[in-house]
Amino acid sequence: MLTEVFNQIDELFDETVEIRRYLHMHPELSFKEYETAKYIANYYEKLGIPYVANVGGNGVIARLKGNIEGKTIALRADFDALPIQDEKDVPYKSTVEGVMHACGHDGHTATLLTLAKVLLEHKDKLRGTVVFVHQHAEELAPGGAKPIIESGELDDIDAIFGTHLWATEPVGVLQVSKDALMAGADRFEIHIQGQGGHGAAPHETKDSIMVGTQIVTQIQQIVSRRISPLDTAVVTVGTFHAGSAFNVIADTAVITGTVRYLDEKVQQKVIEELEAIINGVCQSFHATYDLKYEKGYPPVINHADAAEVILNMKDTVPGIDAIDEVKPVMGGEDFAYYLHEKPGAYFFTGANKPGNDYPHHHPKFDFDEEAMKIAAKSLIAAYEIYQDK
Ligand code: MN
Repeated sequence: MLTEVFNQIDELFDETVEIRRYLHMHPELSFKEYETAKYIANYYEKLGIPYVANVGGNGVIARLKGNIEGKTIALRADFDALPIQDEKDVPYKSTVEGVMHACGHDGHTATLLTLAKVLLEHKDKLRGTVVFVHQHAEELAPGGAKPIIESGELDDIDAIFGTHLWATEPVGVLQVSKDALMAGADRFEIHIQGQGGHGAAPHETKDSIMVGTQIVTQIQQIVSRRISPLDTAVVTVGTFHAGSAFNVIADTAVITGTVRYLDEKVQQKVIEELEAIINGVCQSFHATYDLKYEKGYPPVINHADAAEVILNMKDTVPGIDAIDEVKPVMGGEDFAYYLHEKPGAYFFTGANKPGNDYPHHHPKFDFDEEAMKIAAKSLIAAYEIYQDK
């Protein structure tokens, strides 16, 4: 069956590109992807494949049952865009001011839609049930994966696979890990309350900028002095806002940042140390603070069995030159939640567009559309091979 499916994926490539470009021109922000969700539902409607809309929000889930008994396996594609102004000079540039598909989710969606169309024609030879999971709101915590799982629509699945078009790698390369592929990603916000006053009389104030800078410096010691060198964590301060005039001691300061980790014990340690440092520094300056720590997506931890399927697909899927077993990247992904519930694997599909080396989330981000063929073929190959697991 796979050979015929692969051929037809190639034949339908023009349509895949057309869908991708249409979505690229009409991006919608996380949790507001109403028109995109309608577009997806409408596609299944026309095919006559049963689907459920508004799953956990804007999610759309379709099911195609093959004529041969087998496992129920989900394939997931996300479809939200980002608050970024598209600066590419291409005919399919975003038509929405300040909103852009800068992560390739348009490609994920186009890939899964035309794959469904192809598989419909091979229903007689298809084993098991393919569950097409079109997930909204990946880019913005709390994300769409969690409410989709909570809807119960995926309770009966045996496994789940997903891929991300990955513009840093060339087309033909897949990347996967048998363990952690992506990190847990948290957010923190520190409000420091000092006491403002005249810049000429600092001794009568509690200088929030002094407090804040000490905190920024000292929390860098969490990774270097509190976490084992064999464990992994990132503590990054992204913003620091304080002060209003050159001769005034700042009354308050607000610091925000992110914590990344692969292991929940490490996450817990970072949280404890963060609070201890903030508390200690504030005490020494007689200042007070409020720490808001928001736990975001947990790490994406692949199941070894499912990852093994991806690692061994090189001779099955045409167009694959290499499948690399890689160390995790410290970005976050709410695909993590599916893997908490069910076996499965997430992998990267190389999609670098020659001449365009802008990273994901960049205003000039783009990818090589040829990668969508490989993504589609890899997903259905994983589905087929996992049937025998
Ligand atoms: Mn993404």
